[in-house]
Amino acid sequence: MKKGRWTLQRIYDNIPFLRERYKEAGISPDDLKSIEDFEKIPCMDKDDFLDSFPDRLVCVDKAELIRMHATSGTSGHRPTCGFYTRNDLDTWSYLCARNLGAIGMTKKDVFQNTTSAGLFTGGFGYAQGCTLLGAMLIPFGPGNTSKQLEFFQTFKVTSFHAIPSFGLRIAEIMEQEGISKDDLYLKYAILGAEGWAESTRDTIEDRVGIKAYDNYGLTEATGPGVSVECQEQNGLHIWSDYFYPEIVDPKTGELLGEGETGELVLTSLWKEALPIFRYRTGDITSLRRSECPCGRTGFIMDRIKGRKDDMHVIKGVNIYPSMIEEEIFKLSEYFTDIYLIVYHTVGVYDNVSVNVEVKEGVNQAKAIKELEKNLREATFLRIDANPFPPGTLPRQEGKAIRVKDLRDRPDGYKGWLKMMNERNNNKD
Ligand code: ZN
Repeated sequence: MKKGRWTLQRIYDNIPFLRERYKEAGISPDDLKSIEDFEKIPCMDKDDFLDSFPDRLVCVDKAELIRMHATSGTSGHRPTCGFYTRNDLDTWSYLCARNLGAIGMTKKDVFQNTTSAGLFTGGFGYAQGCTLLGAMLIPFGPGNTSKQLEFFQTFKVTSFHAIPSFGLRIAEIMEQEGISKDDLYLKYAILGAEGWAESTRDTIEDRVGIKAYDNYGLTEATGPGVSVECQEQNGLHIWSDYFYPEIVDPKTGELLGEGETGELVLTSLWKEALPIFRYRTGDITSLRRSECPCGRTGFIMDRIKGRKDDMHVIKGVNIYPSMIEEEIFKLSEYFTDIYLIVYHTVGVYDNVSVNVEVKEGVNQAKAIKELEKNLREATFLRIDANPFPPGTLPRQEGKAIRVKDLRDRPDGYKGWLKMMNERNNNKD
């Protein structure tokens, strides 16, 4: 509680617009006395970061800053910036080292980082964590998969960090070049920074011959080092001595209980340069208290189910792209891993369908029928699957954009009612 109050006080003292927000809610840092008090304190969100671009959320003298990182600023947004004092950087390195320790790495390991040591936090974060742990770091960076595999063999690499789609790419190139998992020394990988299905994990583990562990972090919170799976692979341990997590209803902001699915809210308990208090991450998951056999205490979060912005309500059902992806990936003998989810309007209703690539030599009618049946069982919705030949759906570099929204009224049936009412009113 002391650390929570310390964070709130920093923000209160240094960020005028947030101080105003707290004052309007009748809150001062002294009111934070117990866990129950968190609920009364207004949340921060992504807009606070965008509106404060580039550095108006910084709570220290600029001379104390020794690093910045930023998101790439996808979908037309300004980038989200993170800033670090020396203490921040030390703690962040320690949290990344903890992540690597949790998946079983020691100083004997050889660790290849396949993400770029640039603005993206995953590159530097794990480079620092690995160095602190004492394992040997190969800061390879992204791309050039064949060369990466050559390094895996030459330097007897035992572990790597990657985004999940690059994990799949490694499996693909191994197959193309006739490299068997027995030719490699790999034991484990730490993957994250984009959503990935359980079936993607199975594919990577099986084809690359490793254990693949999920980890979670975001630039606003520091980068990687918020939570990680231990060797049990049963949810992600949140470093609860450094972050206090909550789950709220993504629509109303109301606090939800343990086990309930909603939006993850994080409070940093240590950050100097850019502390966050009740920051709404936009990521959908659930929380529970750890009873993990590994002995780690604190909170465990589920793997991320999707982004709040990705959620669509179709005929009363909450749909996340990951739900559809999971079913496609389960039928990997029929379909490639490229797909496009399309939201569209049929009459007055919103509808969802999915374009998939059917592999060569597969009985198309049978494959589509099976996928549609599985989708209906998983979502309770009728979702049409449209077959395309392999290699014909659009491919993007980096993070995949796999959703297209073609609806007349992006806010659904209620939006349609509102639109019709407005039209009727205008006629008078
Ligand atoms: Zn555990």
